[in-house]
Amino acid sequence: MKIPKFQYIAPKSIKEASSLLKEHGEKAIAIAGGSDLLLNLKNRLKNREFLIDLKAIPKMDQVTFSKTEGLTIGAMATLRDLIENPVVRENYPMLVQAAESVGAPQLQYMGTVAGNLCLDNRCYYYNQSPWWHAGREACWKLGGKTCYVVRGSKTCWATYCGDTAPALLALGAQIKVTDPVRAKMMPLQELYSGDGKEPNTLKAGQFITEIALPLPAAQSGGAYMKLRRRQAINFPLLGVAVNIKLNGKNNTCEDAKIALTAAERQPILIEEASKLKGTKLSDGAIAEVLEAAHNKAHPLDNLSGLPPSYRKQMVKIYLVRAIKQALQAAQQKGR
Ligand SMILES: Cc1cc2nc3c(=O)[nH]c(=O)nc-3n(C[C@H](O)[C@H](O)[C@H](O)COP(=O)(O)OP(=O)(O)OC[C@H]3O[C@@H](n4cnc5c(N)ncnc54)[C@H](O)[C@@H]3O)c2cc1C
Ligand code: SF4
Repeated sequence: MKIPKFQYIAPKSIKEASSLLKEHGEKAIAIAGGSDLLLNLKNRLKNREFLIDLKAIPKMDQVTFSKTEGLTIGAMATLRDLIENPVVRENYPMLVQAAESVGAPQLQYMGTVAGNLCLDNRCYYYNQSPWWHAGREACWKLGGKTCYVVRGSKTCWATYCGDTAPALLALGAQIKVTDPVRAKMMPLQELYSGDGKEPNTLKAGQFITEIALPLPAAQSGGAYMKLRRRQAINFPLLGVAVNIKLNGKNNTCEDAKIALTAAERQPILIEEASKLKGTKLSDGAIAEVLEAAHNKAHPLDNLSGLPPSYRKQMVKIYLVRAIKQALQAAQQKGR
């Protein structure tokens, strides 16, 4: 099936790109690696007259590390750029775990970090061909007035399924968002609207130019675990990211961040993880946090592969495993 005709524009600067996106509003969309967007255009899930390619903008793919500032990832850096970068591998191994779990190497070479963060939400009743859709009334995400997943709902519940967002949330990421007038840094969680139809909060003319991570703490470690049917080319049916910082003196938890993906309409940062501070991360200490994460996860019957009840049950199981792995990593780093 062919992609509908569009006008391709490759601006040479951030300002030019944001001005074009602002000028053309809903008729335009930014394209990075195209590994999500092109399929959606082909399937007529999105219709745009103008594709604004961010690739020709110089230095947008750079990954730089400073021992005082931490890591800066250019929005156009590919997932492979992270996976193959020795500094990222050494300092942010959880991010590498998450990037390596995306699709397959071909997708990691094409797919960018910002594209992964801005991935459209997914639903069995949405990610289909035009022929499949022709047989039934359009749902909310396609401009209709019904939902096939949550019957009677007045809103769309399509699920956010990106792999790197939970890892970046657990690592405390900030993103730089640019519009034609200014650029601002904001916490990654503010990118997500919680609406399945329009999952991100970016307005016309805005796009991500950078992702920034703080320096990893001396005795810290992380783990990303992904539940899927096959060990390749499968979106997550659940993803959990855990980042733990230990107190070197008494080996208690000094800070903990936990995030989930494929469990809601946006990646979820579990704020209750802060209750782990000062504990030894024993079964008793983590029980309350596991319960909070379990309660916040609302997997629905809109992703093929495993039933929602099983995916929900796996939240606690995967978190226990990820906490154990993150703890081991933090202890090893402290040696
Ligand atoms: C078979 C298959 C399997 C896949 N498996 C996985 C998987 O397991 N896990 C996973 O996470 N993903 C998966 N993907 C999705 C996709 O390949 C990746 O998420 C990839 O990182 C998307 O990046 P991209 O640069 O190709 O994005 P694009 O397709 O170029 O863009 C995706 C969206 O992001 C927006 N966007 C891009 N850059 C910016 C920016 N700088 N600022 C604002 N908006 C921007 C675009 O406008 C578009 O809406 C899979 C895709 C396929 C086809
Ligand atoms: S959750 Fe409902 S409205 Fe959203 S894409 Fe699926 S069927 Fe459509």
